[in-house]
Amino acid sequence: MTRTTRRIVLKGGTVVDSRGEQRADVAIEDGHVVEVGAALKGADIVDVAGCVVAPGFVDLHAHLREPGKEEAETIETGSRAGAKGGYTALVAMPNTDPPQDSVAVIDFVREQGKRAGLVDVVPSGCITLGRKGEALAPMAELAAAGVRIFTDDGNGVQDELLMRRALEYGKGLGITLAQHCEVSSLTKGAVMNECQCCTSLGLPGWPSVAEELMVFRDIELARLTGARVHFLHLSTARSVELVRAAKRDGLPVTAEVTPHHLSLDETRLTSFDTVFKVNPPLRSLNDIAALRAGVLDGTIDALATDHAPHPRRDKELSLDQAPPGMLGLETALGVALGVLKVDLAHLVRVMSINPARIAGIADRHGRDVQPGAPANLVVFDPTTTWTVEPDKLASKSRNTPYAGMTLRGKVRHTMLDGAFTVRDGEAQR
Ligand SMILES: [Zn+2]
Ligand SMILES: [Zn+2]
Repeated sequence: MTRTTRRIVLKGGTVVDSRGEQRADVAIEDGHVVEVGAALKGADIVDVAGCVVAPGFVDLHAHLREPGKEEAETIETGSRAGAKGGYTALVAMPNTDPPQDSVAVIDFVREQGKRAGLVDVVPSGCITLGRKGEALAPMAELAAAGVRIFTDDGNGVQDELLMRRALEYGKGLGITLAQHCEVSSLTKGAVMNECQCCTSLGLPGWPSVAEELMVFRDIELARLTGARVHFLHLSTARSVELVRAAKRDGLPVTAEVTPHHLSLDETRLTSFDTVFKVNPPLRSLNDIAALRAGVLDGTIDALATDHAPHPRRDKELSLDQAPPGMLGLETALGVALGVLKVDLAHLVRVMSINPARIAGIADRHGRDVQPGAPANLVVFDPTTTWTVEPDKLASKSRNTPYAGMTLRGKVRHTMLDGAFTVRDGEAQR
């Protein structure tokens, strides 16, 4: 992307960052914020009255599908979806083909991200070779190549000893281990939440305890090793309670929740529509209430999309055959604003500041909007409503569970290093 040296002024918006809210213009030059204040002048004046100007969103959990499944998404199309959703950085999940367990694949993902030039693509590394849960990936080598967050996402690390070793290495390397919490022996063939309605539908259930056992185990392993553990896509009330207690004990654990687990409940699957099949599954209203409360009181640190594109052909399979996962990048803001009764500063905390810190990229993302900060910014209108039309999404896939729904809150502009990646709602490349 051509770096503009023209001075851009975002005029008349409300700046929201870790310090709270303030009405101010923001001037940007040479990729950085250079001035924040009243009545600023510049060559390119952008009227952002009524909008929020905030550090760009950071997604801790995006499946970009490249290499290996470019039919579903590429790093470029996923980056575009991210930019349109207000993101300036995406942590790329490692369940690619080949998986992200070697420096070569990590470099490839990062390079493809740079080529697309729409967001910072931050590759995660596998914890175990091939995500098979048998032997550790070369974590030191990957950490030396700049990987800051490791996960076998798609799988949880089942073996306790292997996980303990990973945490011991992780502690030494100063990296974060992110767990997909699922005791797989308890979820074989599972399609949806284990509950009243799935037994009446005759579908195999995914019990909450399969998640909670691993959350508990890893909390205790974090206590033992002192390593940082991040819990991916928590979905149950009891998981939230376990993390709350762990934080009370001062343990180095963090957690994320997805917009879909905050907004959609298990009964959606009674339609047998595979778009609502996701892992972990949609849960009960009681779980949803507990997850929302967890975001409100800071037990849950981050919103993360678990953006999981799948081609139509795969989602057209039967409920037991279709792969789990749904799109999330372009709808996260609207869903979050709709379901979370939080102030804008807290929203920015869970969508930008905290995830940037967890991903180890707080030097470039989630920073206060003040002179010297890289101009990685989102400008969104928190009141505009829009209807989700799958065919208009930038993602290569169409599996959004929000088709036809009206969301409140729309991204106007996204900026990476001072250049618009999205302007007036349109991707710039
Ligand atoms: Zn997962
Ligand atoms: Zn995932």
